[in-house]
Amino acid sequence: MNFHQLYYQDPYRSSFEAAVVSCKPSDGGYALVLDQTCFYPEGGGECADRGTIDGVPVTDVRLEGEEVVHFVSVPFKPGTTVSGSVDFAFRFQMMQWHTGEHIVSGLAHTYYGCDNVGFHMSDVTTLDLNRHLTEEQLERIERDANEVVFADRTVEYLFPQEDELDRIDYRSKKELTGAVRIVRIPDADDCACCGLHVRRTGEIGLIKFLSHTHYKGGTRIEMTCGRDAFRKITAIQRANGETARLLSVKPDKTDEAVRRILAESAAKDRRISGLNRRYFRMRAESIAPGTPLALCVEEGLNGIEVRKFCDLLVKNGSAAVSAVLCPDEAGQIRYCIGSETVDLKSRVKELNEALDGRGGGSPQMIQGTFRTDAKTAARVLASCFG
Ligand SMILES: [Zn+2]
Repeated sequence: MNFHQLYYQDPYRSSFEAAVVSCKPSDGGYALVLDQTCFYPEGGGECADRGTIDGVPVTDVRLEGEEVVHFVSVPFKPGTTVSGSVDFAFRFQMMQWHTGEHIVSGLAHTYYGCDNVGFHMSDVTTLDLNRHLTEEQLERIERDANEVVFADRTVEYLFPQEDELDRIDYRSKKELTGAVRIVRIPDADDCACCGLHVRRTGEIGLIKFLSHTHYKGGTRIEMTCGRDAFRKITAIQRANGETARLLSVKPDKTDEAVRRILAESAAKDRRISGLNRRYFRMRAESIAPGTPLALCVEEGLNGIEVRKFCDLLVKNGSAAVSAVLCPDEAGQIRYCIGSETVDLKSRVKELNEALDGRGGGSPQMIQGTFRTDAKTAARVLASCFG
């Protein structure tokens, strides 16, 4: 541990004074090194601290060799004293998330032999475990992780000698050499880590899994902790509350209600589709034999229905050419044109050019879209096939 890393001495300290050691131009701004700092650099999955130095925003903090480098937009004079202020709300969230992640990873390791193979914090904490876990296993980890929070365990730090290190069963992403700091959360985790943690697990407040997915043969968990968990759960509760109000059901019955509505909607779709089929047949039967062009303009059909309607008109056989046009709100017309006697493929280019269209097909059937209004399309089709 280096003398100038105040964040290790006290992760709860957010303001400090320091002397400027160096300040050099870098990437359109300046790379500032101080003789001591509370700013935690990006590392181990944790985000760099935010805050200001003499009121100037710190845009990034990185560990380069043994130095903590602060990135700022204005130069500072070496030898002068500056005041730093870390955004502690953001820092504390990082500490809550990171300590929560220790507990979850530790329990997943103890219960199911999982290793944490990826971890990062942005809008949520993302944790990748190298084994597939079932719903029940994940529920057990989440529930027991919260028991560790409620038990308010003190987070401990051990600095073992190399021979002692062999006797501790700890988690680590890589083989470590030199001085190792073991972070111990009693009943949950022993892990080699150089990040920042809360003093006691009770400060995490709550650990909440938001989602989980299969990921590279293992499990990816999205989780949150503390104040952010409160915020996210409140947002979900509000949305569910509004859904419950719209559906006139209790908030814990929204899933049942939505399932019922989806089933009703599917039944309505089936009924509409049945009625459409009857309507298409009646229209087809109403066309007089010998008609050169049967032109039907219908709104609100999907692509399959346009095609089926056109098929019925062709099969009815009363018209030489049958066309179905379906205008939509975006100013496009979905078309399907069929014939058993006229080669349509030889006409499609001409039609598309005249009606700003796209599409094609076979000599018996062409389909696509026209970018025009229904009246113009009808006029062009009439002059082409009428
Ligand atoms: Zn840690």
